[in-house]
Amino acid sequence: MKIKDLAVKVDAVLKKRYPDAKTSLDFSTPLELLVATILSAQCTDERVNMVTKTLFKKYRTAKDYAAAPIEKLEEDIRSTGFYKNKAKSLKACSGDIVEKHGGKVPSTMEELTSLHGVGRKTANVVLGAAFGVPGVVVDTHVGRVSQRLGIAKEKTPEKIEIELMDSVPKKDWTGFSLRMIHFGREFCQAKKPRCGECPIYDLCGWEGKK
Ligand code: SF4
Repeated sequence: MKIKDLAVKVDAVLKKRYPDAKTSLDFSTPLELLVATILSAQCTDERVNMVTKTLFKKYRTAKDYAAAPIEKLEEDIRSTGFYKNKAKSLKACSGDIVEKHGGKVPSTMEELTSLHGVGRKTANVVLGAAFGVPGVVVDTHVGRVSQRLGIAKEKTPEKIEIELMDSVPKKDWTGFSLRMIHFGREFCQAKKPRCGECPIYDLCGWEGKK
């Protein structure tokens, strides 16, 4: 089967399974989503949501993050892990937003990835969920599941993103990514995939499937 056809077939099953797939990060503005996404690296969305519940009340604008003493910010996000790097990124990227974009989170890939500490994955999350611009998000789940299914052959997130952009219709980029994340969490986990109950077992080309 052609990879494009495989991707469409897989997504048809996932659309039925996860008809309303959306990010599990809590946010109400593009800035909040950007902050939550930065904090979600190597951390569960549940933990991030616990932290941002308080954080978003304390820091309401990009200026607030940019002006915060780094030690204070570190303390406020400590439990999300890697807090020193994350605090540095939040402060620097907020500084960029204030200086170059008048305090507003920009809405293009080019502008977002020019912000300190913002890569294509984070940019695609923000573009898709906050601005409605289609984007393929390649996180650990999307990368792993795509490779197992045979939709992606490449190894790096950047290259997998290009492969998926080619195989998945553009209108579905954001939804496909979200559905794959939900599917990766529910069935196709890294260590113990639940192949016996998998709704796309017949479409999966992974030689390690059980
Ligand atoms: Fe993942 Fe197993 Fe399903 Fe393949 S059959 S997609 S490895 S859960």
